[in-house]
Amino acid sequence: MIDPQKIWQSAQLPTLPIVALKLIELSRSPSTEVSEIVATIKTDPAIVARLMKAANSSFFGLSSKVKSIEQAVVLMGTTAVTALALGFSLVDPSTRQGPLGEAYTSYWLQSAVQAMAAKRLAVRTRTANQDDLFLAGLLVDLGRLAMLKTIPREYQPVIATAQEQQQSLVETESLLLGFTHVEIGVQMMQRWGLPEALVKTAAVHHDAPETFAACTGTEDDNVLRITVLAAAVGEYYCGAAKGVALGRLRKLAADFFKLSERDLDEFLCELREHVEEIAGLFSIDAQSLPTPSDLLSQANEQLALMAVSAQAETAHATARQAAAEHEIRKLEVKHEQLKRLASRDPLTNLYNRQYFDEALTRETERCARQAQPLGIIFFDADRFKQLNDGYGHAVGDDVLKRISAVAGNMTRGSDILARYGGEEFVVLVSQPSEKGLEKLAERIRAAVAAIEIVQDGKRLPVTVSVGAAIAIPGRMQETDGADIVAAADNAMYTAKQAGRNQVRLRNLLNEFERQLFPMILQRRFSRWLVSKGAIDPTNASRALLHCQTEHARLADLALQIGLLSAGQVDLIRAKQLETGLRFGEIAVQLGFLDMPQLAGLLARQQENARELAVVVARLGLINANRIQTLIDAYETEIYPAHSVAVRA
Ligand code: GH3
Ligand code: MG
Ligand code: MG
Repeated sequence: MIDPQKIWQSAQLPTLPIVALKLIELSRSPSTEVSEIVATIKTDPAIVARLMKAANSSFFGLSSKVKSIEQAVVLMGTTAVTALALGFSLVDPSTRQGPLGEAYTSYWLQSAVQAMAAKRLAVRTRTANQDDLFLAGLLVDLGRLAMLKTIPREYQPVIATAQEQQQSLVETESLLLGFTHVEIGVQMMQRWGLPEALVKTAAVHHDAPETFAACTGTEDDNVLRITVLAAAVGEYYCGAAKGVALGRLRKLAADFFKLSERDLDEFLCELREHVEEIAGLFSIDAQSLPTPSDLLSQANEQLALMAVSAQAETAHATARQAAAEHEIRKLEVKHEQLKRLASRDPLTNLYNRQYFDEALTRETERCARQAQPLGIIFFDADRFKQLNDGYGHAVGDDVLKRISAVAGNMTRGSDILARYGGEEFVVLVSQPSEKGLEKLAERIRAAVAAIEIVQDGKRLPVTVSVGAAIAIPGRMQETDGADIVAAADNAMYTAKQAGRNQVRLRNLLNEFERQLFPMILQRRFSRWLVSKGAIDPTNASRALLHCQTEHARLADLALQIGLLSAGQVDLIRAKQLETGLRFGEIAVQLGFLDMPQLAGLLARQQENARELAVVVARLGLINANRIQTLIDAYETEIYPAHSVAVRA
């Protein structure tokens, strides 16, 4: 990046010869006489000579030979003469030799193309001030000239980069210098006092096609459109990014003048023929300018390359994404491993205490919400110290592993078996019944007692004492998870005291819950279906896995089914606040519900029969007609007086 001040402070900044300045001034006034123009031109004999040559060239195509400058000014018109005089005074033949010769030539050639393109477009669109447009095309890139003259060392690499990378010059300038020939050109024009319309056009000549959408058909707009389109033609003919330039040119041609691609091709051919005339006037060699068909193949080649590299970029991106996904999967696996490590006990590979505590909190909340019982089994190796002392720690470790393995075989996937401490274990039993819990505790005890480990020809005495507890966690926290664990632990101590290798059960369900609980189980639709022989228990469990019964409040269910009125619900709620008892228990106490009704409601809360029916039919476990008959029978049986309301 460089400071643009360097340009404005440079002694090399192009200046206009007095004659050109005077001509611009004169051209502004409508009352200017031809004689004044002629007198001004005559002060610079070099310009006189070149204007005479121009007047007799094919560029003007005048029929008879022009002999005097007076005649030339009259025949060519004052605007054209001014434009040419300006152009002549800017072309400095000496610059074509130096190290920047090529850059100057290319700049002049592009300016000539742009001037001619603007003029031909004016002819084509029947726009009046053709010579103004010629001048606009000629000067629109003035900023480039200023930069070539003032900061050649910095500007040369910019031009080279644009060439090498087939990138537009204005974009490269912006990237490498931090400013562009557009801004510099505008300032130059303002300094020189060039017409406002010309300055305005130069300011926007590289803007995106979309920004000209508001341009309509006014005279000023037309001048702007022609100049911008002419600049796009110049960029296409002489710029490095031909593919991009062609796209821009086609869009502008279509937007501005509804030129089809064919119209445009035709125009470009016509232009190519006329460029030689003006190039000759400015002594520029136009031979190097490609023909339109060469241009098109260059542009297409670039576009194809761009498409290929875009494709390659996409392929790269896809590969990168695949690599990233692979990395993510690896991390996920690692994360899983870490999580597993964090939740497992390394010796036994059972869940650790921390994991158990978290699960206990979660399950306690769920059971409290759904008024479901929670079961805990606690067991501790008997006389383990003796075993360690007698056979060594390694044998002790081995025994702990064997105990863990056999206990793991006894529990279900939904139970959580954890190592609670040294030789203490715990099981969080999901959806237990009193009997089921006791059975499981007994099976664990028996399985451990059956472990055969022989040391020094003697079978080791391996047994555990087991305590179990069951409770419905209370809403008021009087029986939370830790209380149930403590009760199980307590029961385990009782078993120790009673001689070890035995099971003790602590039932924390109250009389009401004890009565209610088996009734709920019976009324759950899955159980009911099993009891009717409509489905076997395994398939019932399978279907339940596909069911996600949304939790509904008991009061809402009762209102919905029509078992309770809104007034009754309010009364129950008031009493609940007073006593801290459960909703259902109060409803029964107040005589609003009987036990079977409450059990039916709780069964519905735990398991949505209609949802389960849909799953059962979908899995093909029972056909759709039969399940419809079954659910009707179920509802009539469970909610006899209200089965109509349920169905509704
Ligand atoms: P009780 O029947 O009353 O439970 O008697 P006990 O000997 O099993 O109970 P006590 O609490 O007196 O001793 C427990 C022993 O368990 C002491 C301890 O060294 C041992 N222990 C705890 N963790 C491990 C372990 O990871 N590996 C081994 N090998 N021993 C352990
Ligand atoms: Mg430009
Ligand atoms: Mg012990």
